[in-house]
Amino acid sequence: MSQITVIGAGVIGLTTAITLQERGHQVRVVAAATGAGITSSVAGAIWFPFWAEPRERVSKWASVTRRWLTGLARADARAGVDMLRMLELDDQDRVPWWGAEIEDLVLTRATDRGVDASVWNGAPFGWRFAAPRVDPRHHLPWLEACLRAPVERLAIASLREAIERGPTRPDIVVNCTGLASRTLLQDSAIRPLFGQVVVCTPGTFDPGSSMADERDPKAVFYVIPRRDEVIIGGCTAEWDGPVADGTLPAPDPNLTEVLLDRAARYGVVPRGILRVVAGLRPYRTTVRVERDAGDARIIHNYGHGGSGYTIARGCAEEVAEMVERGA
Ligand SMILES: Cc1cc2nc3c(=O)[nH]c(=O)nc-3n(C[C@H](O)[C@H](O)[C@H](O)COP(=O)(O)OP(=O)(O)OC[C@H]3O[C@@H](n4cnc5c(N)ncnc54)[C@H](O)[C@@H]3O)c2cc1C
Repeated sequence: MSQITVIGAGVIGLTTAITLQERGHQVRVVAAATGAGITSSVAGAIWFPFWAEPRERVSKWASVTRRWLTGLARADARAGVDMLRMLELDDQDRVPWWGAEIEDLVLTRATDRGVDASVWNGAPFGWRFAAPRVDPRHHLPWLEACLRAPVERLAIASLREAIERGPTRPDIVVNCTGLASRTLLQDSAIRPLFGQVVVCTPGTFDPGSSMADERDPKAVFYVIPRRDEVIIGGCTAEWDGPVADGTLPAPDPNLTEVLLDRAARYGVVPRGILRVVAGLRPYRTTVRVERDAGDARIIHNYGHGGSGYTIARGCAEEVAEMVERGA
């Protein structure tokens, strides 16, 4: 059993912490911010590999996470996870890069009998599969409630400080600080990608289905129903504004109009807008799940881009294996 301090209480920090705790380790979680001000609170958050590299590792982490989330959806409603029937529109019938391990992935053609492709916006193909959908409003508090000790609110100035300060000296520190790793570690490989979603009261859209269309990267569209609301997205844009941990960027009202217009093209007409939220995806050239080269007591787990909910458990299990291998 190791004494482990996890820095960060977004979906990555909390999932890592409970995975390590399940394996018998003594875990302490320290975070500058929790709840509504952090990136993890504004995510869709559906299982779907999006803006995360490298593909081979992401596919593996995604597959582990999908299995885990599917189990949670069955086991405990309080975890905020439900299974939806997902439709991903496509221009081609080649299996998507993340599809090899999705055993229920089925190709549908717009011309197949019984398919109502009127809302496919011209797409010739669609991939159907079961996708776990997470609601961060329930899932993050649920993860936190699974911890033996509450999250400690503390902003650390360096990872070394996290090792040297505190009630007990940890054997391992796991860095799950997301975008903040850019300044904490001077890591120029990570950069913010702006995203915005419109949260609506449900209209006529089937609450058991979700759909996404990323054929045009400049006009990505998705709709994700929750138990009591519907998320309409999306957008991915470079961001050169300020980045402050615990503070989300202001939504762009013009973009809200664009997203609602786009939704109408797919026949999605919400009844009303509840709120509009934006966040900065912690995109890194490669998601960093590795031991620090200069200090073996530090393991990094950050840079999950647009896939934090999709790969959290797979990454957490890899961290746990690193802790247990000791190398
Ligand atoms: C609009 C939008 C939609 C999205 N939709 C999806 C989706 O459908 N599916 C999906 O899989 N992903 C989605 N994502 C991506 C997902 O939200 C992120 O990948 C994920 O939230 C990253 O989690 P994280 O825990 O690494 O970071 P964060 O949520 O930012 O958490 C970082 C934690 O580290 C703490 N921290 C930072 N610096 C310090 C410090 N110095 N000391 C102590 N603590 C510190 C913070 O306070 C916080 O607790 C979406 C993102 C956006 C913006």
